[in-house]
Amino acid sequence: MDSKRKSFVIEWQSMRNSEELVKSFRERGRKVTPQRERIFQILQGNNSHPTAESVHAELIRDMPTVSLKTVYQTLHELVDMGEISPLDLGTGSSRFDPNQSAHHHLVCTRCHLVKDLYLDVNEVQVSKEQLQGFEVGVAEITFRGLCGDCRAEVQEK
Ligand SMILES: [Zn+2]
Ligand SMILES: [Zn+2]
Repeated sequence: MDSKRKSFVIEWQSMRNSEELVKSFRERGRKVTPQRERIFQILQGNNSHPTAESVHAELIRDMPTVSLKTVYQTLHELVDMGEISPLDLGTGSSRFDPNQSAHHHLVCTRCHLVKDLYLDVNEVQVSKEQLQGFEVGVAEITFRGLCGDCRAEVQEK
């Protein structure tokens, strides 16, 4: 068993908490407004793979004047800083993932629910010919199908 296999983690690895992010933003000379701090809090431990729109919808409950543009800017800064990952899972809008551990996704093609999935892709063997000169850094697997709720609803009809 090689070291790669042993280090395989099956756990949520969060972005830094909002106090640490505030500090990190300030160190980089970026502004930290109360809106931004609230966005950090919304993302903390958020496993729904939110879109900018859904973060915005939650934000305006307490801060009704914040624009969607501010949300986008903040999310993209967090992506630049490596705190969250952008995801394009073919669900219509891009999503953001605060879970920073290596993982894959289950995507419901009907309701667009996205769930984290942990599996060891080190076992997947790809031949040199297949790689065609590529050196692979990250491999991501998306499993598409129907979630439990959608399956139940489809069966009822
Ligand atoms: Zn579904
Ligand atoms: Zn995820």
